[in-house]
Amino acid sequence: MSVLLFSHAACMEHEVALGHPESPGRLRAIAEALSAPEFDGLDRREAPMIDPLLIEYVHDPDYVRAVMAAFPEEGSVRLDADTAVNPGSKEASLRAAGGVVAAVDAVMSGEAKRAFCAVRPPGHHAEPDQAMGFCIFNNVAIGAVHAQRVHGAERVAVMDFDVHHGNGTQAMFEKNASLMFASTHQSPLYPGTGRLHEAGVAGNIVNAPLEPFAGSDAFTAAMEDRILPALRRFDPDLILISAGFDAHGEDPLAQMMLTEDDYGWATEALIAVAEDCCGGRVVSTLEGGYNLSALGRSVATHVQALGKDL
Ligand SMILES: [Zn+2]
Repeated sequence: MSVLLFSHAACMEHEVALGHPESPGRLRAIAEALSAPEFDGLDRREAPMIDPLLIEYVHDPDYVRAVMAAFPEEGSVRLDADTAVNPGSKEASLRAAGGVVAAVDAVMSGEAKRAFCAVRPPGHHAEPDQAMGFCIFNNVAIGAVHAQRVHGAERVAVMDFDVHHGNGTQAMFEKNASLMFASTHQSPLYPGTGRLHEAGVAGNIVNAPLEPFAGSDAFTAAMEDRILPALRRFDPDLILISAGFDAHGEDPLAQMMLTEDDYGWATEALIAVAEDCCGGRVVSTLEGGYNLSALGRSVATHVQALGKDL
């Protein structure tokens, strides 16, 4: 089955700082991994720039205006303690969000069943009115609300297996019962949110915090016991994945000790839920993942799983 791959060379022009882990090299590693012959069948598309008005689905209009005005023509501007922008960041940010919106358009219109967006900057820490943790615009949350506003989806779920909790997505969804946010993440770890008791307005926030060195068995159990049943009960019309690969055992920023096979398994498990609930529709977008070799291998396993007919 053909999987759509949205990306753009401009997403490599955003640089937080020299030597920063959220580097352009991440997309180069992914491009190299997806250049293997088994990915010849991918339907590769350029991520378009989003209309900034659509960013206001989930972000405060004043924040969007402030960020658009802050993107520099030269030098670097700091938006948050660990988030800075350079002259390449404006186009990269607009294409990162635009890629997810285009992927949602293609999947919701039936053009394809599944898509992966190899884009950066990532998005899941971006709050309604604040850049945070390498994230500027919350790409996945924008895509979820777009599916509702433009394609009539009633319920949309985001599953986030990045090792960090997606505090921004949770903040955008927690008061809206038509949106679900489910997350596995290491705890304690940045950003410190994502406790079990954070359940949203209608049980629509489902957190599965895992201890450092939790490993594959604890991750699998959290998915099987907590995340997957909640997703089935929610019965979404579209599943989005915040696909961060920094829970991998080789990642320098965390210690959850997963392998690329865990990402393949989790992807297939999410596809199985999507097949039962929403015609198999899954849109996945890149979040973290900072060991370049592990990132390339993990994305390859994830994209291969997205192409499976289960
Ligand atoms: Zn992360």
